[in-house]
Amino acid sequence: MARVAIVTGGTRGIGESISRTLQGLGYTVVANYAGNIERAKAFTADTGIPAVRWDVGDHEACFHNCVDIAARYGQIDVLVNNAGVTRDGVLHKMTFDDWNEVMRINLGGCFNMAKATFPGMRDRGWGRIINIGSINGQAGQYGQVNYAAAKSGIHGFTKALAQEGAKFGVTVNAIAPGYIDTDMVAAVPQQVLDKIVAKIPVGRLGHANEIARGVAFLASEDAAFITGSTLSINGGQHMY
Ligand code: NDP
Repeated sequence: MARVAIVTGGTRGIGESISRTLQGLGYTVVANYAGNIERAKAFTADTGIPAVRWDVGDHEACFHNCVDIAARYGQIDVLVNNAGVTRDGVLHKMTFDDWNEVMRINLGGCFNMAKATFPGMRDRGWGRIINIGSINGQAGQYGQVNYAAAKSGIHGFTKALAQEGAKFGVTVNAIAPGYIDTDMVAAVPQQVLDKIVAKIPVGRLGHANEIARGVAFLASEDAAFITGSTLSINGGQHMY
């Protein structure tokens, strides 16, 4: 039977590429999204992958949707915690809402989704959880105390949960992407982006499929001995 994978924020950007890549490898994929119905409909029409709308920052919604997905597809074998948002601003201008929303979605979403799926993986003796962190969680970034803290938290979360899953066949790893050419990066002003690209040794932004291939590897049988690790895919921008 095909392994079942949930990709949060799986209908556009990096998540879309992850969904498509896993589908291409034979996984049964379910993609989650937050509110961009138009993009989700276009994604499903093109791929046949079901897109299910809920907020990963909502603990109850994660639980209920995972129960539904497990009932429909049998079980959940692979969780890719990819959904993320930015609410940038320097600390002295950042509101509590900006802080809280990023923590709630980016870090809280990982907890909520792991809480809903990890017990089943543990009981069955096989599972893969792959969390999408960020170079900015490793190195910090001006104007992103909220985002850097949440992403840095993902790396700690990964290492702690990896220890809990190890003897049950559940691996937990993170990927820390550098700057990837998605809508999220399109929102960065061009002059800021030019300065960022100038600091990337490979000399360009990354592509979503370069992150997706890393996810596919970590989800595979071949990666069974890799757990608690962070794969940095950043064109050499931060060698961590
Ligand atoms: P995009 O902004 O292009 O896409 C974000 C996705 O997350 C969308 O599908 C969106 O849904 C979904 N999403 C947002 N909030 C929620 C929520 N509350 N519940 C469920 N889904 C949600 O982002 P990217 O593809 O660029 O980024 C994907 C991940 O990679 C993020 O975690 C990001 O932090 C991380 N990352 C990205 C980098 C980059 O350079 N792009 C660099 C480092 C890390 P909808 O379409 O409905 O809005």
